[in-house]
Amino acid sequence: GEYLRLDKYLADMGVGTRSEVKGYIRKGRVKVNGQVAKQPECKIASEDTVSFDERCISYIETEYFMLNKPAGVVSAARDKLAATVVDLIEEGKRKDLFPVGRLDKDTEGLLLITNDGDLAHRLLSPKKHVKKLYFAKVQGRVTLDDVKKFREGISLEEDFTTLPAELEILKAEEESEVFVTISEGKFHQIKRMFEAVGKEVLYLKRLKMGELALDERLSPGEYRKLTREEIELLQ
Ligand code: URA
Repeated sequence: GEYLRLDKYLADMGVGTRSEVKGYIRKGRVKVNGQVAKQPECKIASEDTVSFDERCISYIETEYFMLNKPAGVVSAARDKLAATVVDLIEEGKRKDLFPVGRLDKDTEGLLLITNDGDLAHRLLSPKKHVKKLYFAKVQGRVTLDDVKKFREGISLEEDFTTLPAELEILKAEEESEVFVTISEGKFHQIKRMFEAVGKEVLYLKRLKMGELALDERLSPGEYRKLTREEIELLQ
């Protein structure tokens, strides 16, 4: 492909003047393919990914959609047999979109779909502890003791205890309703946490990921582009 000097590329992309950009590069604020690049004259190709202060600057425009994931659809980019969340995005005929993380097949709610790998990496990094808020309907009466156990962390495996999770009781009856906030994303995590206190999750819907909230006007299966402000919230 074609090659371009890094400083010229960043200036062309509007990051700053040529001399400003050289300063940013020398300060280590620019990465090429995830590595700090300190030479303004370094050559880049169109397939390289360049970031400035961890924000992706790329030839390929980054796109961000929020989907209200319906039950019955798998959280994958492509699947030979099953319908996937990316199949629901009209623009997903482009091949580079993928879901940021997974929801179980029967879980509904907020799923971010993008082609921004850096963002996905940051949101999913186990070190970042990005909070996720869920609404759940649970078989059995959720108690203050459960709230305490969730707050203290629940042992799911011999060598794994969850970080403190917030459980807010909305309705405590034979079938209870709660908000749950977790900051990890282990396989079936919320279902397993309730199982550990002797209860079964009947319905699960994600409402927030980090600062990004599901637009409640979206019915299951509907999606829309993120606004500029929402994209900022995720940075
Ligand atoms: N926890 C679960 O058990 N399932 C999900 O889909 C998400 C969180």
